[in-house]
Amino acid sequence: MILYRLRCAKGHEFDSWFKDSKTYERQEKKSLIGCAVCGSSKVERAIMAPRIGKKGKEAPIEVAETPATPPAAPSPEQQQMAALAKHMPKELREALLKVRAEVEKNCEHVGDKFADEARKIHYGESDKRGIYGETSDEEAEALAEEGIEFGRLPWIPRGN
Ligand SMILES: [Zn+2]
Repeated sequence: MILYRLRCAKGHEFDSWFKDSKTYERQEKKSLIGCAVCGSSKVERAIMAPRIGKKGKEAPIEVAETPATPPAAPSPEQQQMAALAKHMPKELREALLKVRAEVEKNCEHVGDKFADEARKIHYGESDKRGIYGETSDEEAEALAEEGIEFGRLPWIPRGN
C-alpha cells in the first residue's frame, strides 16, 4: 500500500491509500478517485512536501517565483531565425554563415529596397550587379512571376 497526497482541480488536498502506483494510475485515468472534500473526480497527485525536522513539522516550502523578464524584443523574424539557427546542424549553420559572408563581400546591400532594385537591374534601369537585402514573401513571389532571378537564403544571425 502506498499513501499519495492528492489534489483536486479546486485545490483541495487529501491523502489516499492505493494498492500500488499502477492502481492509482488506473483509477486516476478512469476518474474513479473523488476529492475527499468536494467529490470532484479531477484529481492529480500533489507533490509531497519533504518533511524536515524531528517532530514532523513541515518546513514551509518557498517557491521563488521569478517573473519572466521579457528580453529586449527582437523582431519575430529574428527570433524565428535565431531559434532555427539554434536547432540547425552545426555544418548547415556554418555553411549558411559562409554564404552570408560571401554575399556580404560580393554584393551590395540594398536593405528593404531589394525588390525595387532587383526589378531595376532586371529591366536595365540599374547597373547589373549582385545585390542583397530583405523582401517580403509577396514581393518575392511577384519577382519570381516577373522572371527575375534571385535566391533566398535563411539569414541566420551570427554569434549564437
Ligand atoms: Zn475538491
